[in-house]
Amino acid sequence: MPTLILVLGGTTEARLLAGELAADPALRVVTSLAGRVRAPAPLPGEVRIGGFGGVDGLAAWLRTNEVAAVIDATHPFAAQMTAHAVAAATAVGVPLVRLDRPGFTPDAAWTVVDSLAAVPTALTGDRVFLTTGRSGLATFADCPQWFLVRAVDPPEGPAPQRMQVLLDRGPFTVDGERALLREHTIDVLVTKDSGGSATEAKLAAARAEGVAVVVVARPGLLAGVATVATVAEALRWLRGSQQGGFPPVSPE
Ligand code: NAP
Repeated sequence: MPTLILVLGGTTEARLLAGELAADPALRVVTSLAGRVRAPAPLPGEVRIGGFGGVDGLAAWLRTNEVAAVIDATHPFAAQMTAHAVAAATAVGVPLVRLDRPGFTPDAAWTVVDSLAAVPTALTGDRVFLTTGRSGLATFADCPQWFLVRAVDPPEGPAPQRMQVLLDRGPFTVDGERALLREHTIDVLVTKDSGGSATEAKLAAARAEGVAVVVVARPGLLAGVATVATVAEALRWLRGSQQGGFPPVSPE
């Protein structure tokens, strides 16, 4: 029976990982998605969608499906899912590695804040390009600025009073992002420190166009969790397991 690997997904890296794992006949890969995106792009291997029902639900899923290893490749800001995964994997005794892609290369010109809630008071201009996703828009409901909100799906619930929604998903190009900043006469770009090549073009574009940047810093890493930075390292961690046990990975 193939060895079952659970990939907690929702990122480009999770997609790439699923492709690598699905190509190995000795493995069975299931990618789990939260179900936030209405029409997720097709994924290699099997896919399950929706929450597990907290730590206990995930622990039960791991046991029932006899999962051999968990790779948490969720988004750097999906802190709750990561915490649940670590707790459940520990409870069941299933090895887990966290795939945490590097953040964007820092720029001294950026204003860095520690949460989305801190963004409104850090806004310097009147026309804001908001790329932090459709959740959390309520934070900007009382802001006087005009917002260009880019998201994969239409926003729901409270949102900025003055906004235009742009439905799109990466990857984006620097030229395309520059044109967008000019078209909407953007003063300030707001982004999470998501990292990854699919969305970094906006930062180069902002630099080139003289647009201010506000970056929301990542939630802290959980202490003691085996962590890798790339798909290749995650695969190495997994392959090591087939040669006699999952090697420990030092947290960064
Ligand atoms: P979160 O706040 O950390 O998690 C909230 C709950 O959503 C979890 O407790 C879990 O529910 C469920 N969940 C989250 N990720 C899941 C997954 N991969 N599979 C099954 N259930 C999942 O998560 P989030 O920040 O809302 O992110 C949700 C998804 O969107 C993740 O897959 C993440 O990779 C992706 N994403 C997030 C962001 C972001 O900025 N946060 C950006 C791009 C993509 P239960 O407790 O019921 O298991």
